[in-house]
Amino acid sequence: MSDKKSLNIYETVPQKGFFGHPKGLFTLFFTEFWERFSYYGMRAILIYYMYYQIKDGGLGIDQPTAASIMAVYGSLVYMSGILGGWIADRILGSSKTLVYGGIFIMFGHLVLAFPGGLTTLFLSMALIIIGTGLLKPNVSNVVGDMYSKEDNRRDAGFSIYYMGVNLGAFLAPLVVGTISNKYNFHVGFGIAAFGMLLGLIVYWATRKKNLGLAGTVVPNPLTKPEAKKAAVRFTAGAIVLVLVGALLSMFGLLTVKSFTMIVSILGLIIPAAYFIVMYRSKKTTADEKSRLIAYIPLFIAAIMFWAIQEQGSIILATYADQRTQLNLGGFKIEPAWFQSVNPLFIIVLAPVFASLWVKLGNRQPSTPKKFSYSLVFAGLSFLIMIIPAAVNGTSTLVSPLWLVLSFLLVVIGELLLSPVGLSTTTKLAPAAFSAQTLSLWFLTSASAQAINAQIVPLYNAKTEIAYFGIIGGLSIVLGIVLLFMAPKISKWMRGIL
Ligand code: GLU
Ligand code: ASP
Repeated sequence: MSDKKSLNIYETVPQKGFFGHPKGLFTLFFTEFWERFSYYGMRAILIYYMYYQIKDGGLGIDQPTAASIMAVYGSLVYMSGILGGWIADRILGSSKTLVYGGIFIMFGHLVLAFPGGLTTLFLSMALIIIGTGLLKPNVSNVVGDMYSKEDNRRDAGFSIYYMGVNLGAFLAPLVVGTISNKYNFHVGFGIAAFGMLLGLIVYWATRKKNLGLAGTVVPNPLTKPEAKKAAVRFTAGAIVLVLVGALLSMFGLLTVKSFTMIVSILGLIIPAAYFIVMYRSKKTTADEKSRLIAYIPLFIAAIMFWAIQEQGSIILATYADQRTQLNLGGFKIEPAWFQSVNPLFIIVLAPVFASLWVKLGNRQPSTPKKFSYSLVFAGLSFLIMIIPAAVNGTSTLVSPLWLVLSFLLVVIGELLLSPVGLSTTTKLAPAAFSAQTLSLWFLTSASAQAINAQIVPLYNAKTEIAYFGIIGGLSIVLGIVLLFMAPKISKWMRGIL
C-alpha cells in the first residue's frame, strides 16, 4: 500500500473515543472478542464431543483419532489465512472479507447446534476453516489501518486488541463448558454461534461510524488478465481437489489418517515454498536476504512453541478429563474450564511483561533470546507434567494445580514470543511481501499443528511420561541451541532489533 493511501485511510478514522485510541478499536476489539469467544468456546468442548460415548452425547470416536482431528482442524484454521489475506488484498478489501468470514463461522457453529454425527462435524469444520481464514488475519489488518505508521499508540493498540482476543478466550470455556454440561454439547455449540452473531452485529452496526475507510480499500487489485488467470487456476484447482477426493474415496483411501498425512505434509511444504519464493525474488535485496535467513530459526522456534501451546486444548484437555481430580469437596470442576486458564494468565501477566520491557529499555533481551527463553518455559510446562505420573503412577487422579502450573509456564513462554512474533515477522519479511506477513506468522501455528496431528495420537496413560518428557526436553534443547545462536541471528538481522 502506498503511503499516500494509508495516510488517507487513517485520517478517515475518528482518532479518539476508545481509551485514547481510535474509535474503531472498539469495533474491532468486540468483533474479535466475539469471534474468539465462539472459536475457543467450541474448541473447549470439541474434543470431548468427539471422544465421549454416544450414550453420553458424544460421537464415540476413538481418542487418538479425536486428538489428531483437533490438530488437523487447528492447522487448517490458520493455514486458510493465506486465502483470506489474498482475497482481501486483491479482490474484496479486509472489511468485506471479514464479514463474509464471520457469516461462514456463524453457520459453522450453528451446524453443530443440531445433532448430525460425523457429517455435521466435518461440514462445521469446513465452514469454520474457511470463515476463520477470511476473518482473523483481516481484523488484525484493519487494526493496523487505523494508525499512521509513525503513531506511537500503534503497539498499545495491538496490545488492547490482544486483550480482546484473550478476554473472549477466557470467558468462552466457562460459559460454553458450563452450559454444554448442563444441557448438551449442541446447546454449547449454539452459544458459540450466537457469540459470532453478536460479533457480526457489533461490526456491522458500528463500522461506518467508527472505521471510516479502514479496511475498505483493495490494496493491490487484480487486473483483468490476472483475474481471468486466477479464476482459471481456482476452478482448475477445485476440480483437481474434487477429483482426487472422489478417486481416493472410491478406493476407500480417503480416511482421517490419509487426510491427516496430507495436511501434515502441507504444513511443511507451504512455509518452505514461502521462504524459497521470498529468497529468490528479484525484489528481495541483499539485506533482506540476510534477514530472511535470520527469520528461519525464529520461525522454527515459533513452530515448536505453538506445538506445545496448542496441545493445551488437546492433550491437557484430555488430561483434565481423565487424570485430574475434578471433585473438590463436593464442588465439581468442568474439564472445559481449564481452557480458561491460559487466557486468564495472559490477561493478568501481559501488562507485567509490557512494563518489564519498558523498565529494561535497551537492556531487555534481544528477540532471538526472548524466543529461546520462551521455548525453555514451554518445555518446562510439559516436563513438570512428568512428576505426578512418576510419583503416583497413572491410575490415580492428580490435583488440578498441576494443570494450572503447566498453563502458567506456557503462558510465560507465550508472552515472550507471541506479542513480539508478529512485529518481528513484519520487520524481517522482505518489503515486497509485506502484505502477506500476517499469513506468514499464522503459518507458524498452522505448521505446528500439522506436526501435532502426527504426534498427539501417541499420548495415553502408558506413554504419558515419555510423551511429556521427550516433547518438553526437545523444546528445551531447541531453546538452548537458539540461545547459542542468538548473537549470530541478531547479526543476520542487520540492524533490526
Ligand atoms: N491465541 C492467539 C489468538 O487466538 C494467538 C494465535 C496464534 O498466533 O497462533 O489470537
Ligand atoms: N492465549 C491464546 C491467544 O492469545 C488463547 C488461548 O489459547 O486460549 O489468544
